[in-house]
Amino acid sequence: MIVTIDGPAGVGKSTVAKLLAKALGLMYLDTGATYRTLAYAALRQRINPITDVKRLAELARRLPLELRPTPAGGLVVLLNDRDVTKAIRTEEVSEAAAQVSQHPAIRAAMVQLQRELANRHGVVAEGRDTGSVVFPQAPIKFFLDADTRVRAKRRQIELAELYGTRPPIVQVQEQLHFRDGLDRHRRVGPLMKPTGATVIDTSRFTAQQVVRAMLHHIQQRFRHRSGFATHARPYRRTRPRIASRSSSSG
Ligand code: C5P
Repeated sequence: MIVTIDGPAGVGKSTVAKLLAKALGLMYLDTGATYRTLAYAALRQRINPITDVKRLAELARRLPLELRPTPAGGLVVLLNDRDVTKAIRTEEVSEAAAQVSQHPAIRAAMVQLQRELANRHGVVAEGRDTGSVVFPQAPIKFFLDADTRVRAKRRQIELAELYGTRPPIVQVQEQLHFRDGLDRHRRVGPLMKPTGATVIDTSRFTAQQVVRAMLHHIQQRFRHRSGFATHARPYRRTRPRIASRSSSSG
């Protein structure tokens, strides 16, 4: 069982993916963490994330990365057995991750790594290209979106929780805008609505409400199959309306 969740930064993908993985008894796969860890390792080794593609590709191919699930449903990110879970969340690393992810050779190595990480497990994978490139055969795909101001506000809160200081909203908006531009316009694996994905606008809903809508959708899809059960709470009217089911990409 593979479920993919794609969308731009700040739509709540990781929170929702962790909750959904827990409800379905699947592993949570944060593909952004693979790009972030590579970017972090590159910065530490003074490898330029934009120009030094050869050294980046070498690093990507032998990246000693481990994603270790926690009992609470999260992930501990280990680089060379060192815990870098928090260190890869800075704005400096976010920007470098968006830069390293532009290179086709890097994406190829990361996609291979992500498939290996998912190999023996069912996963809820979250990222930018999980439904279009990494797991195009996934039976359930979601694409999350949200108003830009809401996304910036969420990212601002996330940064404040991580580092204890709240950056100005204008600065956060600029950073999101910069990353969105790179993610949407790259030639390989751009951020897009994958074919067959169900779109959910998360602007006015909590993560729990979004997860409930997803579980409801999954139950509907699998209602004729015996043996498939989720720990879904009863369906409530507060769930977000599922916006559309795209039949084409883009
Ligand atoms: O999701 P997160 O914000 O952690 O991702 C960091 C960066 O990694 C993104 O801005 C994007 O450039 C890159 N990324 C990607 N493909 C993915 C996941 C993340 O290019 N599947």
